[in-house]
Amino acid sequence: MTATILSGRTMSAELKTELKVEVQRYVEEYGQAPGLVIVRVEGDAASGVYSKAILRIANDIGAQARLESLPEQTTAEELRAMLVQLNDDTTVHGIIVQMPLPAHISQQVVMDTISPAKDIDGITPLSAGNLALGATGFLPSTAAAVMEILERSQTPLEGKHVVVLGRSNVVGKPVAQLLLQKNATVTICHSRTTDLPAVTRQADILVAAVGRANMVKADMVRPGATVIDVGINALPEGGIVGDVDYTAVQEVAGAITPVPGGVGPLTNAVLLKQCVRAAWALSKQAAS
Ligand code: NAP
Repeated sequence: MTATILSGRTMSAELKTELKVEVQRYVEEYGQAPGLVIVRVEGDAASGVYSKAILRIANDIGAQARLESLPEQTTAEELRAMLVQLNDDTTVHGIIVQMPLPAHISQQVVMDTISPAKDIDGITPLSAGNLALGATGFLPSTAAAVMEILERSQTPLEGKHVVVLGRSNVVGKPVAQLLLQKNATVTICHSRTTDLPAVTRQADILVAAVGRANMVKADMVRPGATVIDVGINALPEGGIVGDVDYTAVQEVAGAITPVPGGVGPLTNAVLLKQCVRAAWALSKQAAS
């Protein structure tokens, strides 16, 4: 068997086309474009690449996006002050802060300061609480991208056994909660899980979010399973691979996301989707 490739690039292009129309509608109604600000404290090279990719998508769909770059020695107080200012700026509807931050700034500062109404990457405690309660709110964009892929590929979820590898707050946990809301039976695995292959082989759908290059081998996958690879791992010799041994696993799986070109491209498009949603909500609220 050779797996169907679930192309995040194709799905991201579809989503961007839909968002373009949505942004035009918003501009006609409110006379301004949805506004996104990416805050980046310099230091991590990779986050600079991600920022550019997000700005490109924003530009493609007609949103107003800008990057606020702060020097590496920025203090937590200075970052907080910038976020407060962005919270108060009515032209800004979505705020994201690129991670990782330098070691002297706790992520908590960001989680505690971003207005939940502008929290388009779902990192505030309110967003996390809404997700846990199954209430409407902003989602961590990578977890939402996984769901977008499953939805757009019309992968049935109800009653299916989904095994999620990884329990981080940004991917594993939110993905598991979202799948549970779709009536999947969810097993979450982590570094202390015993006999991991025996668990993963039970999966109708396997979501890998571990951060270990090519860790998921073909003998860990049930024939015909859908495999979603969230991993982005840089190889010492250059290039990136996922958490799944793609070449071998695609011979066993029924469907699989590639890396690159799978979850990654959709993550940024989903971020913009949530920004447009925030813009509608904030503008409607301001008008009422
Ligand atoms: P993370 O915070 O490091 O979490 C990794 C998780 O994997 C942890 O729960 C850890 O278990 C578990 N784990 C580690 N080694 C394991 C093993 N040998 N067996 C089973 N579980 C193991 O990572 P993350 O932020 O969730 O990211 C995961 C991957 O997704 C990374 O490659 C990251 O680059 C990628 N990512 C991609 C996107 C995207 O847009 N596509 C966005 C975010 C992240 P413990 O909890 O027990 O330590």
